[in-house]
Amino acid sequence: MNVLDALIRNLSRMPGIGAKSASRLAYFLLEADKEYMHSLSQQIASLQDKIKPCSVCGNYTEEELCSICRDSRRDHNLVCAVEHPQDVANIESTNEYNGLFHVLGGAISPLDGVGPGDLNIASLIHRVKAEGIDEVIIATNPTVEGDTTALYLVKLLGATGVKITRLASGLPVGGDLEYADRLTLARSIRGRTQFTL
Ligand code: ZN
Repeated sequence: MNVLDALIRNLSRMPGIGAKSASRLAYFLLEADKEYMHSLSQQIASLQDKIKPCSVCGNYTEEELCSICRDSRRDHNLVCAVEHPQDVANIESTNEYNGLFHVLGGAISPLDGVGPGDLNIASLIHRVKAEGIDEVIIATNPTVEGDTTALYLVKLLGATGVKITRLASGLPVGGDLEYADRLTLARSIRGRTQFTL
């Protein structure tokens, strides 16, 4: 197999990249300018050495502490627990949240062999106890695994007396009740909020 075919095969292992996209990307790289190729290959080569989990929250960073944990203007009494570092980036992109994060590293999934001990749960409980946190927002995915993890966290955190909230799950903006699936609709009814003007 030549280098081009090997590259296409490797690219097609990436999430969301099929054989056709992998081939398009490989030919694009083959014809790209030298400077771009140089910086791209350096970034890929150094990515796993340079980017590490933050020692407090588990978000990816080049420093010991991530920029969110270091930011004194943020609310350090509020922690949002998420499954993956990408969730931090997603919530940050809303510009609606000013607290800290805690990356669990996944969700409890007995079928995949992931138990509570495989996740960053003990460190979350420790933070709540040691850092005087007032509220934990549980922002796990609205899936069976995410819900199981949320319930488990509620059980453990309940003993600490911290306020526990969960992200509301509801109808997509611009959506239509007629097309909402029953589960989403049921959750929106349960998680309804008071109408404020
Ligand atoms: Zn951090």
